[in-house]
Amino acid sequence: MMDTPLSLVSLLERAETYFPTKEIVSRTQKKIHRLTYRELGERTRALVNVLKNVGIKKGDRVGTFAWNHHRHLEAYFAVPAIGAVLHTINIRLSTEHLVHIINHAEDRVIFVDKELLPILEKLQDQFTTVEAFIVMMDENILPESAIKSLYAYEQLLENADRTFTFSKNMDEQDPAVLCYTSGTTGKPKGVVYSHRGLVLHSMALGLADTAAISESDVAMPVVPMFHVNAWGMPFAATWFGTKQVLPGPFPTPKVLAELIESEAVTITAGVPTIWLGLLQELEENHYNTDSLRGVLCGGAAAPKGMIHAFESKYGIPFYHAYGMTETAPLALFSRLKSYQEQLPEAERLELHAKQGIVAPCIDIRAVNEYGEIKKDGIDMGELLIRGPWIADSYYKDERSTEAFRNGWLYTGDVVTIDAEGFVKIVDRTKDVIKSGGEWISSVDLENALMAHEAIYEAAVVSVPHPKWQERPVACVVLKNKYKETVSKEDILSFLQPQFAKWWLPDEILFMDELPKTSVGKFLKAALREKVKDYMANQN
Ligand code: AMP
Repeated sequence: MMDTPLSLVSLLERAETYFPTKEIVSRTQKKIHRLTYRELGERTRALVNVLKNVGIKKGDRVGTFAWNHHRHLEAYFAVPAIGAVLHTINIRLSTEHLVHIINHAEDRVIFVDKELLPILEKLQDQFTTVEAFIVMMDENILPESAIKSLYAYEQLLENADRTFTFSKNMDEQDPAVLCYTSGTTGKPKGVVYSHRGLVLHSMALGLADTAAISESDVAMPVVPMFHVNAWGMPFAATWFGTKQVLPGPFPTPKVLAELIESEAVTITAGVPTIWLGLLQELEENHYNTDSLRGVLCGGAAAPKGMIHAFESKYGIPFYHAYGMTETAPLALFSRLKSYQEQLPEAERLELHAKQGIVAPCIDIRAVNEYGEIKKDGIDMGELLIRGPWIADSYYKDERSTEAFRNGWLYTGDVVTIDAEGFVKIVDRTKDVIKSGGEWISSVDLENALMAHEAIYEAAVVSVPHPKWQERPVACVVLKNKYKETVSKEDILSFLQPQFAKWWLPDEILFMDELPKTSVGKFLKAALREKVKDYMANQN
């Protein structure tokens, strides 16, 4: 059969050709923009010419430091279109990590949102390779800034030729995007995605048994475009001619609920903390969410209570998925098999809360010290993954040898796999609580806690114990209306019937908020420190 290359530009060309009038709705700080795929194509071609004019060549890295909006989407296609590599920089990294990844990637140009410019301005002297910053903003007039080589995005676009013929002969193995992990342990690690990997991943997002993104959808990626390509949603949605809603800077639960209602969003994606926030907003104010056919949740375990609330209270189908920066990210997707739909409610929910079965094209295994785990839903082991959109190494990083071995990615996630192939993430290898030689899943306890009506968020960490080695401690944030009315004993007696006695947390600590990572996951390392201080003060 023919060996025609899979390239990202063909995704945009398809949208321009077959869906020229379909819309992209993009929220910036000033207003809501509406542009069509025809306009997106023209503006992307103009941006290609801008990049060529400033001397960007094949293989060069070009950074973006931006929220989810149409200009970021233009960069998604323009940079890879000339064979350069789009480096999506996580705007929430520490300054130390920002300097590290920008220098490590050797970015030559960085696109930056006007409101984020002050962050880079302070660091500019530490960047060793950046020659110019292009400010993404609605206006043409540049803001006051100490940065020397600063250009206004819209002005550059205005003066650029809008014609450019995309190459039909790109090498599908060429790098297209570079994304760094969020670096909760050590320096962030770079993951390079090829054109081929991203095209195949986009195809997987369109499968009926995964996210089933299609032309008739209105897709709103809330997960940031700087975090694993907003899980690939912008690429897939463009390819399929799907209307996109890009929620822009600081997308609060209120902003999201309003966009869902006004744009009739059908499918949206984000981490659990986003959906916890949205649930609270839906509880406090009325919105019409009838258009939603799916909320995709990943990045951290979705609590069962939250899944149940979305589905039973608001009638919104909720899909749990699993992936990593290293897996581009879709690896597992939780959609019940046809015959499982008939199961009793509690069993359905149990399955729904698992991370699902492996996506087509991807292989998985799980191993522990005794070898391959039993597929009984009980035996635990580390998840290993391989497939055409799974990274095979980190970008210029010695840590590759640890994570990539014998053709497999060692995920560092501890899982069980049941007889139906449903995978459940039990913990990170470093977060699982080792009590008296047995393992306690912090994720299971968190799930149970977050099903309590008074609990907004909960995270469980281990504390060292002289006899048992480690014991679980739960950190809990109560919903506003329950503050002061719920006690430690109430919570423990709620957990008691659900777990063996030795699984129950030794302590329940009430907190105002839980520390989170740059992508909104619980920051267990910081929480362990907080708990240690708290326990020390108690003694
Ligand atoms: P990141 O590279 O930032 O996307 O983080 C990947 C990690 O997030 C994985 O290795 C898991 O530990 C965790 N993760 C992703 N999706 C899920 C999920 N659905 N449930 C539990 N943990 C998840």
